[in-house]
Amino acid sequence: MKKWIGILVIGTALLFMLANINTKNNEENPIDFVEKIKEPSYEYDILVDSFNVTKGIVRKDQTLGQILYANHIDHPQIAEIASKSKGIFDVRSLSPEKEYTVICKNDSTEKACYFIYQENSINYIVIDLTDGIDVYRGKKEVKTRVNVAYGEINSSLWLAVEEQKISRKIATELATIYAWTIDFFKIQKGDGFKVYYENNYIDSSGTEKYIGIGRILAAEFTHKNQKFYSFYYKENENFGDYYDEQGKTLRKSFLMAPVEYKRISSRYSKRRKHPVTGQWKGHFGTDYAAERGTPILATANGIIMKAAYTKNNGNYVKVKHNGSYLTQYLHMSKIKSGIRKGVYVKQGDIIGYVGSTGLATGPHVCYRFWKDGKQVDPFKQKLPPGDPIKKENREVYMLVKDSLMQILMN
Ligand SMILES: [Zn+2]
Repeated sequence: MKKWIGILVIGTALLFMLANINTKNNEENPIDFVEKIKEPSYEYDILVDSFNVTKGIVRKDQTLGQILYANHIDHPQIAEIASKSKGIFDVRSLSPEKEYTVICKNDSTEKACYFIYQENSINYIVIDLTDGIDVYRGKKEVKTRVNVAYGEINSSLWLAVEEQKISRKIATELATIYAWTIDFFKIQKGDGFKVYYENNYIDSSGTEKYIGIGRILAAEFTHKNQKFYSFYYKENENFGDYYDEQGKTLRKSFLMAPVEYKRISSRYSKRRKHPVTGQWKGHFGTDYAAERGTPILATANGIIMKAAYTKNNGNYVKVKHNGSYLTQYLHMSKIKSGIRKGVYVKQGDIIGYVGSTGLATGPHVCYRFWKDGKQVDPFKQKLPPGDPIKKENREVYMLVKDSLMQILMN
């Protein structure tokens, strides 16, 4: 018994000593001292603690030269920056409303050391002036969080998405995914959707900023009391697509329509009375009546051949898809900015907006389809389907599909 008490005493004493050492350490521990210094702050991966950071928005007609000159960079150096930027970034391409950041010396010269131009929410360009001139591109890290949303359709998918206060892009994405599976544009009251999709965020000066939806990972679309599923799966690094429960692709090589339309106001025909001129003439396009401003989508991957205005066509875009197929989209209220000759577009990319420019009675898209140099009716074409999941990927696909299905079921 005595022995135990002894051990207890020694033990307590030891504990006391240790505690003492601890307290002592606390007073002198250099680590504690370091913790009191504020965290280093970074902008675009540049340590900015010893600099002055200014953020601005490019004003209308403001040039890079003006911004740099205001930050004590002289004209010869500005000229050198312009020439060093060639191939990386066109210094004349600064557009109004875009954000920029100037990181300047924290001394009497207040000279700019870095200029950063935020091209879009993800991509930026850095002009580093700390040691000569270095121009490079960077990307903000995109953080992705997943979300489930659902809606019931009363009149249109577009409105159903708006009612749920989720991104409109969900509607265009769903329309693209299901374009060949569902007679989508005849959706009726009581139809509905459930989507499992990504929301993207970037870091903006220490705070998280929402930049829009990423990909739809899985969807369930109810149409006429039938459920249609789609699951996103990447067969390899460069190619991902949507497949059904059996692993069959939902895509055809062309979308069924370039727009979410209210009705087809005129079909392809060899002979019809023109609504404006009253002349009898062939109508070699399909007219999709839709609300003004509705996005018009490229129906397949391709290269823009023309994006122009003519008296009859109004604002129009013509896309070359491959050696055989061409499509054309007429009467746009506006061609989307950036859509011009030579630009590559993917199936489902927005190329313009519905309008009634040119010879048109009301807002609609006249969609024209060429095969081997002849205008044909796209609805009468046997278009090739996409490939199903490859045999060797099937097992993994089924596992992915099952887990996605579970999320949709919850
Ligand atoms: Zn037409």
